Amino acid sequence: MTTDYIVGIDLGTTNSLVAYMQGDSPVVIPGEDGLNLVPSVVALDQKNQIVVGNAARRYLIETPERAVYSVKRLMGRGFEDVREELKLFPFQLADDLQTGEVLRIKIGDRTYTPPEISAFVLRQLKRNAERFFGAPVNHAVITVPAYFNDAQRQATKDAGRIAGLNVLRLVNEPTAASLAYGLDKRKHGMVVVYDLGGGTFDISILKLHDGIFEVISTNGDTHLGGDDIDNLLIAIALDDIRGDLGLDLSHHGEAVARIRNAVIEAKIALSSQPTAKLDVDLPGGKRYQREISLEVFEQMIQPIIDRTVGPCKQALKDAGLKPEQIDEVVLVGGSTRIPKVRRLVQDLFQRVPHTDLNPDEVVALGAAVQANILGGGSEITKEMLLLDVTPLSLGIEVAGGVTDKIILRNSTIPASATQYYTTQVDGQTNVAIHVLQGERELARDCRSLARFDLKGVPPMPAGLPRIEVKFLIDANGILRVSAREQRSGKEAEIDVQPTYGLTDEQVENMLLESFDYAEEDFRQRQVIEARREADTILTALAKAKNNHAWHELTNDERRKVEELEKTLVRVKDGDDYHAIRTAIDELNQATMRLAELMMDTAVSTALKGKAMDDTDMDEGPQAGHPVAKADFE
Ligand code: ADP
Ligand code: MG
Repeated sequence: MTTDYIVGIDLGTTNSLVAYMQGDSPVVIPGEDGLNLVPSVVALDQKNQIVVGNAARRYLIETPERAVYSVKRLMGRGFEDVREELKLFPFQLADDLQTGEVLRIKIGDRTYTPPEISAFVLRQLKRNAERFFGAPVNHAVITVPAYFNDAQRQATKDAGRIAGLNVLRLVNEPTAASLAYGLDKRKHGMVVVYDLGGGTFDISILKLHDGIFEVISTNGDTHLGGDDIDNLLIAIALDDIRGDLGLDLSHHGEAVARIRNAVIEAKIALSSQPTAKLDVDLPGGKRYQREISLEVFEQMIQPIIDRTVGPCKQALKDAGLKPEQIDEVVLVGGSTRIPKVRRLVQDLFQRVPHTDLNPDEVVALGAAVQANILGGGSEITKEMLLLDVTPLSLGIEVAGGVTDKIILRNSTIPASATQYYTTQVDGQTNVAIHVLQGERELARDCRSLARFDLKGVPPMPAGLPRIEVKFLIDANGILRVSAREQRSGKEAEIDVQPTYGLTDEQVENMLLESFDYAEEDFRQRQVIEARREADTILTALAKAKNNHAWHELTNDERRKVEELEKTLVRVKDGDDYHAIRTAIDELNQATMRLAELMMDTAVSTALKGKAMDDTDMDEGPQAGHPVAKADFE
């Protein structure tokens, strides 16, 4: 029994919720008002206090400049990315915003970044949970859309941290919804998650293998959802009012707000009743009344819900699947309560969708399931779900004992990435690949996962081999590292299980360490890299002295170069980065003419039909770590 509660949180565009595991089943924790959903609205009241949720909603109408909503759309995004959003949403950006700066949104006369605003929502959920448990809540699993990129995920984590929550894991929303239905228990199959919320539509196709969910395709429309239905009904009502009562209320904020509440109520009623009544008091003692039948409602919304068909078909196509290959369909989002939407989904995927759980709660419920697994579920499931994302970065050791990350932490798996390297020494025939896990800059501070050699590389001058190192993590979390020298076709590979034997706590510690040592690591890495550069120059210079170009320099030039060479040799093994840097730059400067002369010689030799490369090579097996090389081709 743990006294440390871990909650699951759905941080939604329209609504947010917090849930936890009560015995064997996940349960949503209500707020003080008894409601499960906390609208993702943040406002500043008259006393400049932050208000969140239902209480903040009225500010959207009364003092819209003091309230914000849909902030999820801005998470982890730059000014350029949100240009389109700004046209559709009344976000007020800070006046003094500089380009390249993190977005800041105005609420009243204050400005907040999107993670700070989301943190207000998270803090409210945390408070609701603490009130419910009568105990502090410090750990959470938070869900994010499957398509969220690294920056958006990081921004969500930041929001959690700002709210005082230790975010143990970010889980993809469709994965959470599938977990809530216990679909992981079926081990294998194709799952479609159809999520029609307030303002967004997401379709995800997940492949379940060995109980692990892999997102194989996503599609959707970032501006499609219940809001469109509301706006359509409002427009129809305003038309009616104009026709029947001769009133144009389209610019009457308060009347429109009242109509909005009425149509939403009617829409919700129509999900369980054959008719609904609209009854709104209007300015000037007038009144708007209308009855809407389900049939008429369904005709009205047809064009809106039809807009979900294209993305569904595309997602199937991208996944290379036919509807009959789908095993399970999960409905997510409040708007999937609409019977017509359910029928559409059933027709599209030829499966009866899961509807037992509340579609606007199912993501939070799944987050609670995940939280429970992290908190003390069985080791097996714990290990399996750990693999949903890579908890730590993976990479290799490059020359100088530096870590070169290839797959960054928090990448959803399966994941793959390729980097190119070359050799450090002339005639190097062995390249040592040392596979590392962790965030630290130096190899010795990371966890060593495996070592292998790429052997039999034909002797070539340093820098000429083109070594492709490929990392591939399959859905089972197995990492395959392969190295291939592309000019000769020599290759070698190894399989490792990166999470094997690592507890969550160890992962956390490794992350924390990397933050603690970030500055020191950076300094050391700089020194090591400068040292390596110094070695390269010194070797090149030693070689150049055998070239007749060296003798074409004046005595003064040669003396100057040798003097600077001595300086570099003297400082390069010290810890003073600036001294090494300066010595390198000065030597580079002084050998400029030498390099030009050598270039001329090389070119004229080549023109005479001789091989350009006539340096005598140290033959024989030589091993060394690869050198990063990004500038091939
Ligand atoms: P999000 O994931 O975008 O935060 P939700 O999943 O909470 O949003 O969905 C909110 C949307 O669902 C709103 O447009 C709301 O009006 C709509 N909704 C909620 N309940 C119903 C219902 N019974 N019938 C139709 N629409 C509903
Ligand atoms: Mg949602």
